[in-house]
Amino acid sequence: MAAKSNELDLSAFPAGTVTEYSTLVCLACIFKIFTKQLGLAARTAYAEIKRYAPSTDELTAPNAVRPFFDSEETNPHCPYCNAAKRWLARLDTYRIEGGKTTDAPRRALVKKLPQKDDQFLTLEKKSDTRAIFFEWLDTLGQTFDFADEAWLIEAARIFLVRRHPKENWEEAFANLRALRRSSRLSEGWERDGARLFLSPPLYYEVLLVQYLVSRSHAHGGYTMEGRLTLMDLLRRLRHGGYLDTLGIKIQDPGEVFEKLVAHLAGDEPAQAAAAKPSAKAAKKKTTKGVAKKAGKGKRSAAKTPPAIDDEPISEPVRLYFIVDRRDFLAKVRGLRARG
Ligand SMILES: [Zn+2]
Repeated sequence: MAAKSNELDLSAFPAGTVTEYSTLVCLACIFKIFTKQLGLAARTAYAEIKRYAPSTDELTAPNAVRPFFDSEETNPHCPYCNAAKRWLARLDTYRIEGGKTTDAPRRALVKKLPQKDDQFLTLEKKSDTRAIFFEWLDTLGQTFDFADEAWLIEAARIFLVRRHPKENWEEAFANLRALRRSSRLSEGWERDGARLFLSPPLYYEVLLVQYLVSRSHAHGGYTMEGRLTLMDLLRRLRHGGYLDTLGIKIQDPGEVFEKLVAHLAGDEPAQAAAAKPSAKAAKKKTTKGVAKKAGKGKRSAAKTPPAIDDEPISEPVRLYFIVDRRDFLAKVRGLRARG
């Protein structure tokens, strides 16, 4: 694929609130459906294709179905009908999680988009924090090579950026070789040489995410602490004091698991983070490499959250999709010009 020359500027959105999807669609396949199956004349078919508005599921599905497909090749062919490049259009989709931090930048972005010919489509869908979190885990799982242990650190980084967007994770993970649980910090993180020490609350969040990402690819999940079943994992979290930290008093493993997922998926820390001093102001104090004593209170990413036994399992979230149809329209015009 040629590099995109006119990407949208998403810099106003907090990290982790926008997900980008890209898919190819075969115009020859669509054209065939419209002319052969629906019996439209060629000219009518082109007019219909131009109006074609794919669904959010089609645009964001992990496994594309006809007439959509995914390809990393520079000269892709349609896997269904073997059509060449001029028949293939690229659709880029930006999924924005609705909420306090994204509503204003989203409205500003949509306002700036060109209106002509529906070059951009905007779609909406109702979802909730739990569904979004599991979709996110699925997508993440598909990008990893589980045979290479480097994914463990990468999963930790991607998750922490999403969950605690105000922290300077770029600095925390630069040239990182190992991830450890800190026995001294009660919150936040610190670097010591090539090692990153996470306070127990952050460490256990990461352990949970590693388990969740890998559990569909292995029996149990695979984590920094090796292969774990759910029961192994919950035992560690309990003995490590993490369940107490979260105020989870119940015993039933299934219910505990749901509470934990709700905690990982929840958006309340992102909002709490917005009220904190900026990560820039805080960073100088924390990354000098020498371990600091617990309780010195410089980082608040993982401040003891309120008890969550009464917390709802999932919060409704509205998802907004911006679909870039520019390449699609250009390809349709090109085909019509050729007749
Ligand atoms: Zn095709």
